Amino acid sequence: MRPYRLIAPAKINLLLEIIGNRPDGYHELVMVLQSIDLADEIEIKPVSGDRIALQCDHPQVPSDETNLAYRAAKLMQENFPGHGGLEISIQKRIPIGAGLAGGSTDAAAVLVGLDLMWSLGLTQEDLHCLAAKLGSDVPFCIAGGTALALGRGEELSPLTDLDQLYAVLAKYRSLSVSTPWAYQTYREKFGHAYAQDPSAQEARRRTGPSVPLLSAIAHRNGLAIAQALHNDLEKVVLTAHPKVAQLRETLANKSALGGMMSGSGPTVFALADNSQDAQQIASQLSQELPDPDLDVWVTKLIAHGIHLAPTDEG
Ligand code: ATP
Repeated sequence: MRPYRLIAPAKINLLLEIIGNRPDGYHELVMVLQSIDLADEIEIKPVSGDRIALQCDHPQVPSDETNLAYRAAKLMQENFPGHGGLEISIQKRIPIGAGLAGGSTDAAAVLVGLDLMWSLGLTQEDLHCLAAKLGSDVPFCIAGGTALALGRGEELSPLTDLDQLYAVLAKYRSLSVSTPWAYQTYREKFGHAYAQDPSAQEARRRTGPSVPLLSAIAHRNGLAIAQALHNDLEKVVLTAHPKVAQLRETLANKSALGGMMSGSGPTVFALADNSQDAQQIASQLSQELPDPDLDVWVTKLIAHGIHLAPTDEG
């Protein structure tokens, strides 16, 4: 048994549509999820005994059993006993509570890493089942790329790669949004308009904003993709945080393509056709909003999820 280092990419939402309620209490969703090259780095190593130890270089990330990566390790120990304990180290690069699935991708990395470290030979389907027990975004984070996600977000269909595009991300460091708060507030405000039964939900899926977006993705058309971006949660998050609304507006106006808020926010992004355009958008944004609290990243859309760190590829 040897240690493994893994790269755990963040995701952005190109689409987040809330269709209705599910019998399990969650929301029925249509999402288009996209991996980007902003990523955490996770190291796992075997230790004697059965203990799980976790450390993270970010003070706001819990290092106890509430960390999603810890929960992933515990789930693997319960399902595959007898392989001993492990130490998990997380180098956090993805901002916290940002709508970028930071915790979910760390958990996905632990699943993939333990499959390798314990030589389990799990299939993608096995990994998917384990991931779905940890959270709705975790299954996507395993294989990543570009995918349509239905149900709670765990029913995945791969889509055409968009790895020719770039995304400029911006987030106020001091601001984070709780995902449960965003969905709960949306339900309180807009629940009366939800599609009520499975056939009404199916009709809404077939006629909703995913239709033009999926066509644009199939054609790898950056402009059409940007014009079809859609996120229902903007209605609650941007109303509650006018500063984020202004940031979204400023950023989207800088891009020839356009932009949106990712997931439950408060990260906003603008798409760009190439690296030069992306760099230009980022520097113009930093000039226009010279706020020390504002973080800006230039990222590339990528066609994969969890992978071995370059230093670890055999
Ligand atoms: P999503 O886009 O999936 O809703 P997010 O990016 O908005 O997720 P996270 O960064 O995953 O949110 O963190 C949400 C909360 O989860 C944080 O407040 C943090 O305390 C907790 N958490 C648990 N494990 C982790 C982890 N490995 N990394 C970051 N946060 C974690």
